[in-house]
Amino acid sequence: MSERRYWDKSIETLSRNELEMVQLRQLRQHLEWAYVKSPYYREAFDKAGVLPSQLKTLEDLQRFPFTNKQVERERQAKAPLLGDMLAVPEEEVVYVSASSGSTGMATLSPFTAEDFDDFQEAQARLFWAAGIRPRDRYVHALNFTLFVGGPDVIGAQKLGALCIWAGAIPSERLLHIMKELQPTVTWTTPSYAWYLGETAKKHGLDPAKDLSIRRIIVAGEPGGSIPATRRAIEELWDAEIYDFYGISDIYGACAGMCEARDGLHLVEDQILLEVLDPQTQQPVPPGEAGEMVLTTLRKRARPMIRFRTGDIVTRLSEPCACGRTHSRIRILGRIDDMFIVSGVNIFPSDIEYAVRNLSELNGEYRITLYRENHLSKFRLEVESRSPQAPVGVLADRLSHGIKSRLGVRPAQIDVLPPNSLPRSTHKAKRVVDLRNE
Ligand SMILES: [Zn+2]
Repeated sequence: MSERRYWDKSIETLSRNELEMVQLRQLRQHLEWAYVKSPYYREAFDKAGVLPSQLKTLEDLQRFPFTNKQVERERQAKAPLLGDMLAVPEEEVVYVSASSGSTGMATLSPFTAEDFDDFQEAQARLFWAAGIRPRDRYVHALNFTLFVGGPDVIGAQKLGALCIWAGAIPSERLLHIMKELQPTVTWTTPSYAWYLGETAKKHGLDPAKDLSIRRIIVAGEPGGSIPATRRAIEELWDAEIYDFYGISDIYGACAGMCEARDGLHLVEDQILLEVLDPQTQQPVPPGEAGEMVLTTLRKRARPMIRFRTGDIVTRLSEPCACGRTHSRIRILGRIDDMFIVSGVNIFPSDIEYAVRNLSELNGEYRITLYRENHLSKFRLEVESRSPQAPVGVLADRLSHGIKSRLGVRPAQIDVLPPNSLPRSTHKAKRVVDLRNE
């Protein structure tokens, strides 16, 4: 039996023109839905002086106001439990996720049964594009507690994979499951994939030989799109890395890598993408970095119109080798993590790229930002693989690598012995900011 290539060929390979017609039709209905059903959107559109009926083209969306995390939080507080962005009665809501928000109270993201099905349909599609098939065994090791990535396991079941609902459990227990049940796919953050592989080795298990993981879906950090980071984890596990993007405010399944693994395809029949200059809020040309602004096209419980994600991406304009027509994005990092030195915008992922390119370093790093004579500077600490490494030579080569990528150098580079920097399991803390101290 020849295996089908796409999960849903009719949607995934629509011509660009047809896809945009589908988007426009849905967007019109969705704006109307938001305006009629949600007190917040009625107020916001009225204040901006726009009506859903004025939307004639996709570009007309630019006349509608933005939303962001702050608005979401305020409107939730104003009308507990789910806030007045809500567009259905609470009895139609069947699921909520909560954002892990590092500041302020958690924001809740409500789904109707239909929204939830859309979410899992998108998840199954993205898993299929990443090469997961019914013969796979998938171990879902993400947090189930209010985390929007939790239910993604249902997308893997929908696709037909054998699913192991592990959840966020201690590494030793997860490794035990991997050894006993020999799953072929898992999902984690890049830092944790690295940590787990190293932990396996400490317990005498070689992840590449003793475990069967051949695909690792990663999300939550830019590492999955940094070639050198990907290679390092792939070698450790003898597995392929597929980067993935979800966001609690919208869906847990927004974009993922296909087998070509060059950028992440967005689920564009459910979500509309804008890439905007964060300062001017005008669209940037394809290939240029800007803030990702997303609009849902049919999330009925709570439409998200022009939601500023705070993630910096580039949109790739060339057609993908896989034949899918939905736009691809490359994720560069969070606006909040970006820092400016000598007028250059720098993401930790830029530094990581250079660090991982030097095979004598083990990939761990820490950036410290500080001020000197009113100028922002940064110091970089990295670890060598061997305690006997020639630290001066390595620091010079790294400094050169960073300069050629970014045009600026760290004020200081320290090449430390292995295991000098603190380790974290899930999301690695890479930047220490002392500029206001
Ligand atoms: Zn593709």
